[in-house]
Amino acid sequence: MNLLVGDIIKMKKPHPCGSKEWELLRVGMDFRMKCMGCEHQVMLPRLQAEKNIRGIVRNGETLTPAQLKSGSTGGEA
Ligand SMILES: [Zn+2]
Repeated sequence: MNLLVGDIIKMKKPHPCGSKEWELLRVGMDFRMKCMGCEHQVMLPRLQAEKNIRGIVRNGETLTPAQLKSGSTGGEA
């Protein structure tokens, strides 16, 4: 999945504060992300995070994980 720092990801399960949206602060083997509701920061293994993503907001557009997969042709190492 082609995710970038600054993307807002929508998770399946809400954070205890009620927000489902997280801002990506670092992308690598692990994701560092900040809850948009309470600014709590967590690190998650990439695979675990990707499994819980329902949508991605980038440049004001909401994308599905499937759109991101098909949208990146090549590019990824
Ligand atoms: Zn929160």
